[in-house]
Amino acid sequence: MTEKHYGGASSHGLKKDINKTSSQTAGVDNKKKADEITKANAEEKVMDRGRHDEIEDYNDYVKAGKIASEIVKYAKSIIKLGVKLLEIAEKIDSKILELRAKPAFPVNLSINEIAAHDTPSFNDERTASGLLKVDIGVQIDGCTADTSFSVDLENNEENKKLIQAAESGLKAAIEKINLGVQTSEIGKAIENAIKSFNFVPIHNLSGHLIEKYDLHAGITIPNYDNSQEIQIESGVYAIEPFSTDGLGNVRDGKPSGIYRLDKPGSVRDNFAREVLSFIVEEYQSLPFCSRWIYKKFSSRGLLALRQIEAAGILHQYPQLVESGKGKVAQAEHTVIITKKDKVVTTLYSN
Ligand code: MN
Ligand code: MN
Repeated sequence: MTEKHYGGASSHGLKKDINKTSSQTAGVDNKKKADEITKANAEEKVMDRGRHDEIEDYNDYVKAGKIASEIVKYAKSIIKLGVKLLEIAEKIDSKILELRAKPAFPVNLSINEIAAHDTPSFNDERTASGLLKVDIGVQIDGCTADTSFSVDLENNEENKKLIQAAESGLKAAIEKINLGVQTSEIGKAIENAIKSFNFVPIHNLSGHLIEKYDLHAGITIPNYDNSQEIQIESGVYAIEPFSTDGLGNVRDGKPSGIYRLDKPGSVRDNFAREVLSFIVEEYQSLPFCSRWIYKKFSSRGLLALRQIEAAGILHQYPQLVESGKGKVAQAEHTVIITKKDKVVTTLYSN
């Protein structure tokens, strides 16, 4: 998954609150209390970040990364022109479980001008084609590896160059990222690499700090020089350059069927309440999709999902579409930065 900038305040503190208190508060609508807890969490987080130089659950992040890299290899072996997106997504879902991990979010399968946040619905008939981005998340107890690659399924030179541009942006960023480096310097490295292919980066999408059960934990890694003075500290970071031959921005497209819990709340209907409890237990604040709800609860589940969404408890991600309808390529790895070293968790080679 990627992070789009809407120009508003980040909601990651609230997500944190759901992680900690959702099981107790799922039946209570108490936004004021949530806001207070959110503020306290944000303050606590600032202190935390200065304090620890080691990564909690380091081994789980590494393990998730290794599995994610195996999933990438597997995904590349099954993706071919004309194969149903639904089949690809379901096979990837099963393979992640088979390797004793869980998806950290629904696999994103986004074609051409759709930059991100497209995943098949339970009855999706669409097939793989064009310039396909595959964005995969694997988690072990909430410790996430986030990685993506792009494939050209129409033997097109422009597609191939776009993919090279995104990959060279990622390589430059991985070389650049270190303790104390400004995030804008990483963005600059990405921007320069992509521009050397005569393309532009997508400016309003970025990489992100990852924390336990929190995919977008506040700090972002821009894909251009945004001149922000934020230094890299110890942590787990997803770096994800997007290259395009379009305008270099995305806008919101159709609803994606990808959701996450947004705030505590309740629903009146008994069955919808059961579905909500499942979501709270199973996904916490990580993204999930309608396809998974259908698999568990069939079509009644989708109805319940709509009720839960209408109650304002869920956020549904829109698809992200390039503003000039340009084609988009993406490349992504997850990197752990510590005082000792830099480990690309999703780049496992044996
Ligand atoms: Mn991703
Ligand atoms: Mn990401």
